[in-house]
Amino acid sequence: MEKRVYIETYGCQMNEHDTERILRLLENSNYLETKNAKEADFILINTCRVREKPEHKVYSALGRYKWLKEKRGVIIGVAGCVAQQEGDKLLDRIPYLDMVIGTHAIPMLPQLLQKIEVSGERICEISFDQNGKYLEAILPQKPPVVGSIRLDKVKSYVTIMQGCDHFCSFCIVPYVRGREQSRSSREIIEEVRHLTGMGVKEVCLLGQNVNGYGKGLEEEISFSELLERINEIVGLHRIRFTTSHPADLSGELIQAFSKLPKLCEHIHLPFQSGSDKILKAMHRGYTKESYLKKIDHLKEVCPSIALTADVIVGFPGEREDDFRQTLDLMERVQFDDLYSFKYSPRKGTRAAQFQDRVEEKVKQERLSTLQEIQKEITFRKNQELEGCVKEVLVEGRSRQTAQDLAGRTRSNKIVNFKGNLELVGQLVPVRITKAHPHSLRGEIVSVQEPSICNLRSAIRNR
Ligand code: SF4
Repeated sequence: MEKRVYIETYGCQMNEHDTERILRLLENSNYLETKNAKEADFILINTCRVREKPEHKVYSALGRYKWLKEKRGVIIGVAGCVAQQEGDKLLDRIPYLDMVIGTHAIPMLPQLLQKIEVSGERICEISFDQNGKYLEAILPQKPPVVGSIRLDKVKSYVTIMQGCDHFCSFCIVPYVRGREQSRSSREIIEEVRHLTGMGVKEVCLLGQNVNGYGKGLEEEISFSELLERINEIVGLHRIRFTTSHPADLSGELIQAFSKLPKLCEHIHLPFQSGSDKILKAMHRGYTKESYLKKIDHLKEVCPSIALTADVIVGFPGEREDDFRQTLDLMERVQFDDLYSFKYSPRKGTRAAQFQDRVEEKVKQERLSTLQEIQKEITFRKNQELEGCVKEVLVEGRSRQTAQDLAGRTRSNKIVNFKGNLELVGQLVPVRITKAHPHSLRGEIVSVQEPSICNLRSAIRNR
């Protein structure tokens, strides 16, 4: 009998991808996805401890679904980082919660679910899997269907490693995702080939420290060598990856941006702070100048590269001049976009013990100042694209109006334009007609026109 699963996902792409993997797994156990919690037989809250206010979100989500438990006996579970860290405590606190499933236990989900269905037992599974089996591919079996909820499958995430060995003082990832574990290149390539065979045109390689790929594997392979092999896959058009650590950004990887035609000209390279004092307290393993040097190298190798990053303001001990250093770094790099956060302590991290806290009001002022500056830079960078023709991968309907299509440039900018839904999954040349603060407006042109903005081809033809 067909059943329905509803998943509420918080946090980063890794969590989104975990949700995708869970849905694929459950499909084989006759659980199909629903977007309506009221018709679900199983509700799963996939939590994040990195970007969200975790407890608050989990408890309020659980509170929302309590009545469904009472009325229809729906099975309720919590997955992700909060599940990993809180474990049994969640079951103790929430009497109607059936399942707590940690970050390494996803492949066990169908069996655990069946156990609950049969015996009504409440289950907590949060052990770490040292053999990396939890990273094995869970492949989609059905091709994407235009018009279905899975329309976005012209691009797909592929986890290539998980966990982190960096232990930044503010971050919970090494504790909830474990130490770095990489998948074999053979498995990754098989997965990308499978996805390409189903119509996927773009893959985004995922890992908390993606450019640390390869550590601990029997085969000797670096991240850039993996990229070279993926670049060979016929039918694949674009490769992206996230998230990179500046300390692990090798010269070889920087060169890949000019060498590999399928590697998109975009890198997300979190810098977190421009102050060496704060970077040291964060245990980031680089200085402002060494970060800037790598950025210069990237721009030299690939002048059209789009740069985005994460930054934290108000880390303990951050004085006004430390904050000025952050603004200075931003001005010097001219990021295409920034994901900026006020520091807030995460239970279980070293920084949560740091005393020299920055007042909330000061944090807020700094965040607003930084965001104002970035807003202008982002808008100006978008305006520079007006008149250019860009290759756009059509992803689906626009979120702005149902009549329009939306896609992304290789530099990861969203473009909205008029076009037929049949173009979904195709690469089309689009002239940028208008820049908006967070997106671009364009029109399809029949033939790719030469454009002074198209530095990528200019460089390749040199
Ligand atoms: S590099 Fe630092 S911030 Fe990134 S996942 Fe690892 S510990 Fe967390």
